[in-house]
Amino acid sequence: MRLTVIGNSGSYPGPESSASCYLLEEEHLGRTWRILLDLGSGALGSLQRHTDARTIDGVFLSHLHADHCLDLCGYYVMRKYHPEGALPKIPVHGPADTARRMAKAYDLDEDPGMNEEFDFVPYANTALEFGPFTVTAREVVHPVTAYALRVEAGGRTLAYSGDSGVCPGLDDTARDADLFLCEASFLEGAPNPPDLHLTGAEAGRTAAGAGAQRLLLTHIPPWHDPQVVLGEAASEYDGKVELATAGTSYDV
Ligand SMILES: [Zn+2]
Ligand SMILES: [Zn+2]
Repeated sequence: MRLTVIGNSGSYPGPESSASCYLLEEEHLGRTWRILLDLGSGALGSLQRHTDARTIDGVFLSHLHADHCLDLCGYYVMRKYHPEGALPKIPVHGPADTARRMAKAYDLDEDPGMNEEFDFVPYANTALEFGPFTVTAREVVHPVTAYALRVEAGGRTLAYSGDSGVCPGLDDTARDADLFLCEASFLEGAPNPPDLHLTGAEAGRTAAGAGAQRLLLTHIPPWHDPQVVLGEAASEYDGKVELATAGTSYDV
């Protein structure tokens, strides 16, 4: 499974990157399957540097904050009005309210909203088989309904925190993952509100406790020094830990 970081900036786009979006690719049945984890502010532009955006097979949204879902609006336009003809409907997995919220975001009537372009599917309590990918969504703590996503393909596992505080759902998602893509939005020592985001140290502790093989820190807001966050994580986790950078691909 190949991961390409399309956007990794925390909470809003930064000078080096759009907001959250991760492309996962895996060969299956004679072609490359492609899914997106999140499609946040600015990410649709960056995505086009790495692949033909029309070839995405499905989208998995961690939650409905703008920095994780808002570029679905532009993607709706691309798929609906493409001059070569409307593109086939693809699934968009997310919280139960995703169809209504995305219609509101684009100022569309809820019926049909974006339902002719996307098949909105709420997360269930069971793992979902999608082409070569098995995706498990677990609810995590955040001010809105939010999920961490565990994606398995070809015997490898990528765990993605979405936005989360420390919680059992995050621990279960990261358990023995080959690569743990984990947010680290906060700094230790600041008056951080509970159940919102993680510090680098908390990301490191979660990775260590879960036995994750490798840690990739993401969702660092542009107002923080990423090296400080990296140092915090490395102080709690003995494995390989790096900063996610936009445009970089990783073999999971
Ligand atoms: Zn966020
Ligand atoms: Zn959020």
